[in-house]
Amino acid sequence: MKSPSQRLLNTPLVEAVPAWLAKARGNATARTLAQSEWLLRRKLDGRFLAAVAGHSVRSLDAATLRTDTGIGAALDAIARDCGQDVSITTHGGPLRALEIPADYGAVHGLAPIAEPAELAYAGRDRYRRPLWLLAPAARAWLRMRAAARADDVSLDAISGYRSHAYQLGIFQRKLARGQTIAQILTVNTPPGYSEHHSGRALDIGTPGQPPAEESFDNSPAFAWLQRHAGAFGFAMSYPRDNPHGIVYEPWHWAYAGR
Ligand SMILES: [Zn+2]
Repeated sequence: MKSPSQRLLNTPLVEAVPAWLAKARGNATARTLAQSEWLLRRKLDGRFLAAVAGHSVRSLDAATLRTDTGIGAALDAIARDCGQDVSITTHGGPLRALEIPADYGAVHGLAPIAEPAELAYAGRDRYRRPLWLLAPAARAWLRMRAAARADDVSLDAISGYRSHAYQLGIFQRKLARGQTIAQILTVNTPPGYSEHHSGRALDIGTPGQPPAEESFDNSPAFAWLQRHAGAFGFAMSYPRDNPHGIVYEPWHWAYAGR
């Protein structure tokens, strides 16, 4: 059995993340985390629902834990603790819930992207949050970052794996603030279609540059990526005038290897 400490176990509604990666607020929570192996987190809003240690499940959010239907699947995943090469597809539900045009994928030349059943810890991102990627992409990213550093170039990760449910949460929050689906679709990919679901896509930044801005393409970091990223299996997904009609994203790279 592999060590549980470096992996995210994925199920449709809830994900299990290693407890040691979480930062505790307050002594009681710190004690619970120290005694736990896994934390169950609701993907839609990132809320922690329960802590799991061996066969015991301790509620961290009693009100939602009682009503949440995704807990059982997450506990099953911990029990199985396997699932390589198993994909999880949940995009049908969110898309229907959001009234995204049914021909969205066809119009943009984008296929629905399933979530991996398991993701690997790839260090922390710019904001000190755990970064999750598909295992080979995580290894390639860490190698590439080290090679850049050896050339005096600093690369940091801004965003890696994102779930369908997380993407749905972005849409729901914007809708609640009064934006229309059409407005949101000009800047966000609908749940199910973001390359970040695959665990292969990575938004890359460099210190001193704002995240996800076109000006990144003037940085030494971008010049370094253009020259070297291919050797590590990464390619820019959305160059200027890409056939998907997605805006130019010099910060967004995806790992194509296996
Ligand atoms: Zn991106």
